[in-house]
Amino acid sequence: MKQLTIISGKGGTGKTTITSAFAHLAENGVLADSDVDAADLYLILLPVIKQQEPYVGGSKAFIDESQCTQCGECVGMCCFDAIHNFRVDTISCEGCTLCTYVCPEGAVVMKEQISGEWFVSSTREGTMVHAKLGIAEDNSGKLVSMVRQKAKEIAEKENNEIILIDGPPGIGCPVIASITGADMVLVVTEPALSGLHDMKRVLDMAKHFNIPAFVCINKFDINPDNTACIEKRCKERGVDVVGRIPYDKSVTAAMINRKSVVEYDCGEVSREVNKMWEKVTAALAGLNRKI
Ligand code: SF4
Ligand code: SF4
Repeated sequence: MKQLTIISGKGGTGKTTITSAFAHLAENGVLADSDVDAADLYLILLPVIKQQEPYVGGSKAFIDESQCTQCGECVGMCCFDAIHNFRVDTISCEGCTLCTYVCPEGAVVMKEQISGEWFVSSTREGTMVHAKLGIAEDNSGKLVSMVRQKAKEIAEKENNEIILIDGPPGIGCPVIASITGADMVLVVTEPALSGLHDMKRVLDMAKHFNIPAFVCINKFDINPDNTACIEKRCKERGVDVVGRIPYDKSVTAAMINRKSVVEYDCGEVSREVNKMWEKVTAALAGLNRKI
């Protein structure tokens, strides 16, 4: 069983378009939507939820009013200005626990906080694990790890050959959580200067974690100069560009119809995605690294 993470460095480059198309092409895969802050794979795959569980992301402080003498000790010590009128603002509280140590009355307790939910769903392309982080909640890296762990358990149980992970944008903790232990990453970029910049950052990250990486240039034909620049940079780094997807209205039309582009039609985009899938799966099959 192999794990492929599709990342982009930033949102809006077509990462979910590629993931949903790969989901259709994979004959025996499990899906993990690791973009827990703004999951969107469900918009195309229309999951039917089979299991729904709360996600406990961390703890917040609570002041027991019956024990609090209003001495004010904790108020001045809280670096996050989270205590007002001897009550804790749970949005500002970072759960550092300092107030529990400084309170002379033992009036502060830490309570686990439900920060979101995770789901196991069935889709027309197989089982999908996904999640929803609450507004203003953090620890999304931990939730990404949980989604991936659950997907791995399912893949092991059901003998799936591949886990397709739709990664979050950026290069922060959730992205690191989405690629750690993966066999390969596919970086989806676009021919803009920001696309080039973000691609370099995620390739650096993949290199740091010693994970083989490929690049897909989405809408490569909208700026041939920038596409040439991306290809040159990839060549210098020894990274293969495995996909050049043209701009085509069929991608948007497929989304509106809640289908992946390879389900929607057999046009040029679908042909390019098919070719890219063959290259990626051939490369994955050539890897000996155990998950
Ligand atoms: S746990 Fe930390 S952040 Fe939260 S109220 Fe106490 S001192 Fe402030
Ligand atoms: S330190 Fe303890 S007793 Fe003092 S104000 Fe804070 S919670 Fe109340």
